[in-house]
Amino acid sequence: MIHITLPDGSVREYNAGVSAADVARSINEGLARKVLAAEVNGEIWDSSRPINNDASLRLLTWDDKGAKSTFWHSSAHLMAEALEALFPGVKLGIGPAIESGFYYDVDLGDRSITEDDLRKLEIKMKELAKHNSVYERKDVSKNDAIAYFTDKADPYKLELLEGLSDGSITFYTQGGFTDLCRGPHIPNTGFIKAVKLTNIAGAYWRGNEKNKMLTRIYGITFPQQKELDEYLVLLEEAKKRDHRKLGKELELFTFSEKVGSGLPLWLPKGAMLRERLQQFLQKAQLETGYLPVITPHIGSKQLYVTSGHWEKYGKDSFRPITTPQEGEEFMLKPMNCPHHCEIYKSSPRSYKDLPLRLAEFGTVYRYEQSGELHGLTRVRGFTQDDAHLFCTPDQVSNEFMKVIDLVLYVFESLGFTEYTAQVSLRDKEDRSKYIGTEENWAIAENSIIDAAAAKGLNTVIEYGEAAFYGPKLDFMVRDALGRRWQLGTIQVDYNLPERFELEYVDSDNTRKRPVMIHRAPFGSMERFIAVLLEHCGGNLPLWLAPLQVKVLPISDKYNDYAQKVIETLKNSDVRAEIDDRSEKIGRKIRDTELMKVPYMLIVGEKEAAEGMVAVRKHGEGDKGAVTIAEFATEIQNIVKEQMKGKRQNTVQA
Ligand SMILES: [Zn+2]
Ligand SMILES: [Zn+2]
Repeated sequence: MIHITLPDGSVREYNAGVSAADVARSINEGLARKVLAAEVNGEIWDSSRPINNDASLRLLTWDDKGAKSTFWHSSAHLMAEALEALFPGVKLGIGPAIESGFYYDVDLGDRSITEDDLRKLEIKMKELAKHNSVYERKDVSKNDAIAYFTDKADPYKLELLEGLSDGSITFYTQGGFTDLCRGPHIPNTGFIKAVKLTNIAGAYWRGNEKNKMLTRIYGITFPQQKELDEYLVLLEEAKKRDHRKLGKELELFTFSEKVGSGLPLWLPKGAMLRERLQQFLQKAQLETGYLPVITPHIGSKQLYVTSGHWEKYGKDSFRPITTPQEGEEFMLKPMNCPHHCEIYKSSPRSYKDLPLRLAEFGTVYRYEQSGELHGLTRVRGFTQDDAHLFCTPDQVSNEFMKVIDLVLYVFESLGFTEYTAQVSLRDKEDRSKYIGTEENWAIAENSIIDAAAAKGLNTVIEYGEAAFYGPKLDFMVRDALGRRWQLGTIQVDYNLPERFELEYVDSDNTRKRPVMIHRAPFGSMERFIAVLLEHCGGNLPLWLAPLQVKVLPISDKYNDYAQKVIETLKNSDVRAEIDDRSEKIGRKIRDTELMKVPYMLIVGEKEAAEGMVAVRKHGEGDKGAVTIAEFATEIQNIVKEQMKGKRQNTVQA
């Protein structure tokens, strides 16, 4: 008999060789029908694979991430089967699951694949799925495997086999299709009910441009048609909200090949939006005891040799900058921390000076491969809302709590109400790779866990995910479309204080090392604005909108009155502009709607005579006429309300 431990801690006895599917059936038939795979001792297995020893077991259904990737990888096999049926002689590369769906890299010889072919493949896949073919796992000797793919004349699988050792090779077969694969897979093809092949792209074999270009076919599948329909609606909506598209439409930022790829150029409206976000955070930071500092965009190479960043970023990043002075070298700043360490060192510190919280909106430069660049989310120059807190080990816990408060304040003020936090701790077994004393690590790790719990955060703990220099807490937000983004981060660091020999004099007059905390609630201004734009679909909250009001005169005759409205609004801190083009009013309204300006004020003869404005709200339409003063007060109240509700969360320093 073996013991199977379930996630709720209960232990059940079974005969050795029992499968996860058997266990599921012994619990509940209905559950068993939904099990796609199983997690056995932390590893994902086929639900039919025999378990021979005591094990912990988690049954995976569609809602589990691991089940989804197993489902999608199995769908890649199904697509390969369909490809072989429609394109005899097709050669297959690799077919993994990805974040959403799967792909297979294939060699179609001289043939190219069309949209039409994708539709035919979808039909074939659905037809094959209905056969309920079981995904059968088989151990194969290396010789037999080579013989199989030599016979099939598939050079790619033969090349993959070269890297595998005898005894570790498995085949999976479903219906008439066999693939070299380590698994795992879902029980049978019948689970795949809805299929959509989404895209075709070129991809070099094994990502190497010296190799042949293969055809990459992307797809996604679901256990129910309804889920596919919902996914497609979401995909459409995501396209509309793409921050690169919105950035252009709302005139926020642009890129220029001549300036260089990955280097965003902020247009006036975008710069104002960014400025406003910075002021918002700066204000909260000043209230919670941060001190602003400013440091240059470059630093001597020696600074980064000391910090260790030269070793880490030197090879694959921007090359050092040389000067007419022989041997003098500077680097574009990849991190702000080393500069802040030098500020810490600029005067002697006592325990009474701590915590010292130095904050800077610091621009850093990192070389990303051109293929990795993406709008504002992957760039080569970006501004971090950075700060470094220097504190005693005893202060780590309290500082952590305050930083969490600040991060949550930022998220909630900007409408991100759903977030999770990942706590990254040391590897449980191997502690040799971490710098810092056991005692300090234990304090810091417990401080983070306790702080997260005290703040009621929805937390996931990951062992082995800590940086070598300290544990960290990362925030993931869920946007309006349910997508997850990593934003703010808080990291404890024992390394830099050591490397820079930072010290403070403690109450007993001994010299001690401070602990350093790195934190950035936004992450970077670029990435945060990208996520914010996609989250709100470009409809920024009123307090952030670069332009809050557009005044639309019905004809040129009322431009003077419109100008007077603008002046009054400006005196009330309302951001307003006039549309004085000689266009029809309908056209002006349409254009302003497209710019997603929150309010339009339409002014004509009646309004001018009575000192009124006709209010139109973006996406909602007419709101009736009010006096200019009434309108200005209303805007001020809304902005105040948007800011006030959130302020209660912040703690004072
Ligand atoms: Zn496979
Ligand atoms: Zn830092």
